[in-house]
Amino acid sequence: MANDCLFCKIIKGDIPADKLYEDDELLAFWDISPQAPKHFLLIPKKHINGPAGITEADAELIGKLVKKGGELAKENGAGSYRLVFNEGLAAGQTVFHIHMHVLGGRAMTWPPG
Ligand code: 5GP
Ligand code: ZN
Repeated sequence: MANDCLFCKIIKGDIPADKLYEDDELLAFWDISPQAPKHFLLIPKKHINGPAGITEADAELIGKLVKKGGELAKENGAGSYRLVFNEGLAAGQTVFHIHMHVLGGRAMTWPPG
């Protein structure tokens, strides 16, 4: 838990979010600024700054997160989907609590911008 972290505040319930999944370790909520018809974020409740902060001890947790993201995409009718982790400002990271974007419900181009 990091005091100044927006997503830790969402986990604690201090800031509301439209949640679609929660268990002891993970939380999923719809993105406030969706970039696709289906766009939610899946986060570990453990505060990790971003992909670069993942340690060996987090391997199982992050594995579960990726697997759950695919399951939730399917359950929520995303069809084909894209899983995105941004690391660092230049990559577009704005919240420094690791989160996986799950985007679906439309055709996508490659490479991303
Ligand atoms: P990043 O740019 O760090 O990869 O992604 C952060 C994401 O969090 C953005 O897509 C942004 O729209 C979303 N976001 C930022 N603040 C909030 C919030 O208070 N609630 C929700 N649901 N999403 C947020
Ligand atoms: Zn946090």
